[in-house]
Amino acid sequence: MKSKFFLISCLFLLVICLQSCQKESEIDEFSASITEQTDVLSNSKRSCGHTDHVKGLMQDPAYERQHQAKFDRLKVELSKAEFRSCDNPVIIPIAVHFQGVNGTSAACLRQLVESQIDALNKDFTGTNADINKWTGQASAFFQNIANGEACLKFCVATQNHPAGFGLADGAYAITVNRTNGTQLSDWSGYLNVFVQPDLGFLGESPLGGLGDGDGVMIDAGAFGIGTGCGNVRPQAPYNMGRTLTHEVGHYLLLDHIWGDGCAVDDGVNDTPEQDFDYGGCPELGLSTCGSNDLHMNYMDYTNDACMYMFSSGQTQRMVAYVNSSLTAVTANAGRVCGEASGAGDTTDTGDGNGPDEDGRCERITTSTSTVISASMVQIDWSDVADAVRYRVRYREQGTTRWTGKNVTTSAFTIAGLDENTIYQYQIRVQCPQGWVPFSPASTFVTDAAADGGDQSGAECDGAAISLSLILDDYGSETSWELTDDFGDRIDIGGPFEDGAAGQEITVDFCLPDGCYILYIDDAYGDGICCDYGDGSVTLANAAGTVIGASDGFFGEYSYIDFCIENGRSRFGRERKGPKKKSLARKKKA
Ligand SMILES: [Zn+2]
Repeated sequence: MKSKFFLISCLFLLVICLQSCQKESEIDEFSASITEQTDVLSNSKRSCGHTDHVKGLMQDPAYERQHQAKFDRLKVELSKAEFRSCDNPVIIPIAVHFQGVNGTSAACLRQLVESQIDALNKDFTGTNADINKWTGQASAFFQNIANGEACLKFCVATQNHPAGFGLADGAYAITVNRTNGTQLSDWSGYLNVFVQPDLGFLGESPLGGLGDGDGVMIDAGAFGIGTGCGNVRPQAPYNMGRTLTHEVGHYLLLDHIWGDGCAVDDGVNDTPEQDFDYGGCPELGLSTCGSNDLHMNYMDYTNDACMYMFSSGQTQRMVAYVNSSLTAVTANAGRVCGEASGAGDTTDTGDGNGPDEDGRCERITTSTSTVISASMVQIDWSDVADAVRYRVRYREQGTTRWTGKNVTTSAFTIAGLDENTIYQYQIRVQCPQGWVPFSPASTFVTDAAADGGDQSGAECDGAAISLSLILDDYGSETSWELTDDFGDRIDIGGPFEDGAAGQEITVDFCLPDGCYILYIDDAYGDGICCDYGDGSVTLANAAGTVIGASDGFFGEYSYIDFCIENGRSRFGRERKGPKKKSLARKKKA
């Protein structure tokens, strides 16, 4: 059981390490990254020094929120506990960008890339030639650890390349001295691999990449297998391609195996605690925290020849991260690799036509909006084949905060809008292989209010129910969901801002007859009252009568179930989830 406190401290310490390993000016404020500092030419071990340096990134609340969101999505994905069989691996398109390379040919680099990506695929699927070092020997030291086989496939893209890089259709997405830097918006939707000579370190990666044109950086002395090409020349002991395996591990949200010492876990359930990193080629059976150290793991700092496995927990975590946070990349697979990601019966050839008659599940590109009144607009779009569900989101033009709803039909009525106001909206579809990008933003303008008022309450031909949620000081832990009694989601909200204790969130629903559950979740497990503010929840009908409530003094969750019959609401009951035992925690700075 890993506590949230644990996770936060782990993250925090990690970021210190990350930032210390990079020049400050190079840090993208929205992407923590990990740099391996090793002099490639010497045989000194990999390392990432100065852990007591700057504490910066996590001090930025926006950064911390975005970073935390990755872990929240991961938790949900892991909780599903259904991992696909590997008949249909999730495809991850790769583009390789050589920068500052000389003395070689395109053909040589192509072969080098092939050798590297082949090794990457073998390492991730547990089919590397030296996995027998684990199965035949090392595994005997780790009774409770299985090696992992990630159902992922890395594919060097061959189709629909971005324009301006001189790449012909059918050629690999390999650029040579055509790019600078490690953030290329033209290459969004790819896992980019940037290869540079003389980096001064082996590699670096965001902790949890975003697929927004970011990627991993590898020193030219540690990329690929074989004799190399010009000044891209893999050198022992980093000449088996495992620097990329390690960095892609970070990109898919794996921490170093040693976390940050015996007391700080790496966030993966099956990896043993380890006090520090190993380099070189250590013997089996060494222990720093009372259990045998897993130094042959790709996320340690040992030589390429002495790291040969991911644990099962690590591969599950990576696949869950891909499914929950890298859909911008996986959704691109059909278009640029010619292979659709994941489930077998969908082929996203990405012809750019959007949902269409040839039955592909892909991005929505067109929709219509019909203004119904000063406060209501209906959005329609074409059914998308194999869609699991849709998400519609909207906001007043010029504002930053979207309001979104998930729906299962290809039409959605937005209510409660302001009169005579310009709104933006977007729609995205969840295909069997995951969410694909939002449609381009469209706009509509609501009508001016007619004389005599045009309030949304008057338009509800079911029961008008309003939710009032009072936040505590940890709004980022609080979210809510309204479902019908089949468990189908009607609406969802949160998490909210921290530091807004007492703020009231109100949401109006118009509900047909039926029974419903309002679920309030507190991610930390200490409710929303009373240690850090007096949060509470109230459901009221149009007459203002309370039909369900929570005093906020719950643990992980509170359910309020209620029913509506003939348009009249029946009083609901609350059920509370348990308080977590240890509440000694967190004092905000
Ligand atoms: Zn690392």
